[in-house]
Amino acid sequence: MEINRKLAILADAAKYDASCASSGTSKRDSVGGRGIGSTEGSGICHSYAPDGRCISLLKILLTNYCAYDCLYCVNRVSSNVARARFTVEEVVQLTLDFYRRNCIEGLFLSSGIIQSADYTMEQVVEVARVLREVHDFRGYIHLKTIPEASPELLARAGRYADRLSINVELPTVEGLHALAPEKDGQAIRRSMARLRIHIDDAKEAAKPLAPRAQTAVRPRRAAAPVFAPAGQSTQMIVGADATSDRSILTASASLYGAYRLRRVYYSAFSPIPDASRALPLAAPPLVREHRLYQADWLMRFYGFAHDEIVSADNGMLALDIDPKLAWALAHREHFPVDLNRAAKEMLLRVPGLGVKSVEKLLQARRIRTLRIDDVSRLHVPLKTILPFISVPGVGARNGLDDAALAARLKPAPRQASLFDAEPVHA
Ligand code: SF4
Repeated sequence: MEINRKLAILADAAKYDASCASSGTSKRDSVGGRGIGSTEGSGICHSYAPDGRCISLLKILLTNYCAYDCLYCVNRVSSNVARARFTVEEVVQLTLDFYRRNCIEGLFLSSGIIQSADYTMEQVVEVARVLREVHDFRGYIHLKTIPEASPELLARAGRYADRLSINVELPTVEGLHALAPEKDGQAIRRSMARLRIHIDDAKEAAKPLAPRAQTAVRPRRAAAPVFAPAGQSTQMIVGADATSDRSILTASASLYGAYRLRRVYYSAFSPIPDASRALPLAAPPLVREHRLYQADWLMRFYGFAHDEIVSADNGMLALDIDPKLAWALAHREHFPVDLNRAAKEMLLRVPGLGVKSVEKLLQARRIRTLRIDDVSRLHVPLKTILPFISVPGVGARNGLDDAALAARLKPAPRQASLFDAEPVHA
């Protein structure tokens, strides 16, 4: 099969995997030119490097053949889709070609499971090895690991990759049994635990020697072994079964806590051709995925516990209002927050105040008493913030007890679009 055809099939098959934070790329049409630098076409996604840069990755599968029959997956063995398989050399060559043309800064490689978990993992690791050892490739590499692969192969993967990910796929063990019966939830968690140990060991080895261990003649320390410096991540499919947002966030909290994952990605289930009757007919609203990301953000950066974000009634996040504002409206007894005296933890709970604005407020209030003008200068949404704060110049409980407050603060309805999701309300 011609390589471009393989690329079309295997890049398309990889698009369902959200765990590299994929997004589109702006098209640059090279028609009439010599093709250098064109980013039109398949397989380029964006991800974030450890230093915060947004980088573009070639996102492909090694193969979309798969021996497993996960009901939600377009590549399952019973799926009637065109199949293709790259050789190791082809993936290496494609990566280098795209890289030299400055279309990508790295590779995101996943694969269906062929022959056995170990065989598949060996091929995936071999791509990374050849890139690093034969071609001295310095770009970013994100490998999707096969949880059932041997610990030695997982350990090798971490030597070449910047980031490793193992998809838990479904938030609950019951969901995994029902929709991906060949997947072993225990094996997934065992592999995550192994990766965590390797990552922790590598970080420990890279730490500078403690001052008291240093002598006049400083001992030279052997170079620390590198192991997946960008950590590990995972993906959960949302809306393929009836799992509530509360259970999803509980699963995420446990993954962050137990395996120190860098990210949990939430991917709204998308209906696939010839789908099983066990699956819903329609995708969940995309905004549900967005609300989960906002809730995840609150857990990681704002000090919220997973079980306080979702209200108890139906276990679902509100779709019409962001989770931080929803929490504040439901817990008005904690407000207004005195911007000049409140602890940082409470400032972070004020709807509309983000981590950076809180840092700026904390710095400014060391010098003088904050007034409402100082808040305005932060370019934060004053209409949202005002009911929840007290500063000189703002009346106490400024509309906080208004029964219509929620309605006043809800964003006005507007035509939804795939590409203009509202920013995370911090
Ligand atoms: S193992 Fe992965 S590629 Fe294979 S069917 Fe399941 S989700 Fe799809």
